Amino acid sequence: MTTTLGTASADPGEIDTGRLEVGETRDGSPFGLPVAVVNGAESGKTLYMQAASDGDELNGVGVVRRVVPQLDPAELSGTILIVGIVNYHGFQVAEHRNPIDDTKMNRAYPGNAAGTSSERIAAATFEVATRADLILDLHQGSTSRMIDEVRVRCGTRHRLHGECLELAKVFGCGYILDQKGPDGQLARAAPDEGIPTVDPELGGCVGWDETSIRKGVEGVFNVLRYYGFLEGEETPEPQTRAKGFEQFGAPAGGLVDLEPDLGDRVSAGETLFTVTTPFGEPKQTVTADSDGILWRSRRLPQVATGEYVCSVATDIDEY
Ligand SMILES: [Zn+2]
Repeated sequence: MTTTLGTASADPGEIDTGRLEVGETRDGSPFGLPVAVVNGAESGKTLYMQAASDGDELNGVGVVRRVVPQLDPAELSGTILIVGIVNYHGFQVAEHRNPIDDTKMNRAYPGNAAGTSSERIAAATFEVATRADLILDLHQGSTSRMIDEVRVRCGTRHRLHGECLELAKVFGCGYILDQKGPDGQLARAAPDEGIPTVDPELGGCVGWDETSIRKGVEGVFNVLRYYGFLEGEETPEPQTRAKGFEQFGAPAGGLVDLEPDLGDRVSAGETLFTVTTPFGEPKQTVTADSDGILWRSRRLPQVATGEYVCSVATDIDEY
């Protein structure tokens, strides 16, 4: 059966790319999101994958750009639907939010086809996403520094929690954040439609990060093997799971020295960072409230009072 996504159309054993039209830009030109359809020679499940719903998060685009040329539809069972760049307007100007309506795309799902710019893009991509059996929404910790992890956002009491957690484990970055996300996330809205969905969060950087892109590519192929799109055995490895997340801001202005490295275990009461003057005089020290793992931190050393410094993931277990 022919599978169509926007202007892309592929028969079994074929791959095609095209555009999913969503509206017009300010000069009246029609614009479309870049899309790909990989239609396997054999029937099977459908996977939906999207990248750059936050316009400055390019590692997911790096993953898609590397995965697609490696896919041979003749050897695939099932279908892969891909939107390569979701936040079209943010991507053009390398910004996190959609500059047309100053909205974070991953708060606009499931969207509204007659709504704001972000709501319309969300609605168009949600319609594609909900054709699938599994969803990967590729993200990263924006331009801050972050470990590679996969987020399960439906919440532990959701009927699909077990299936989302399984998908996160199969993707296999090593770390899982299992915490209900804010309204408007694709990983919140799609499980409500009965589709297991996760947010792989591939590090954090300005531009590309080779290590994180590689983990993302590996994760996609793990999913393709485990769910029967590709031949081969896939045995998920135990992951380090966090169920809480504590954020720390600067108690004073100055320059930050972070003590633990990303991924280090920290104990309650242990020093996380010190703020100094430009002359190296210590001003304030901040300690961890709970045992956990240093998960994310700011990239630039200079801070104003109250400015974000780092996050510690808590309630750690193996899953
Ligand atoms: Zn993101």
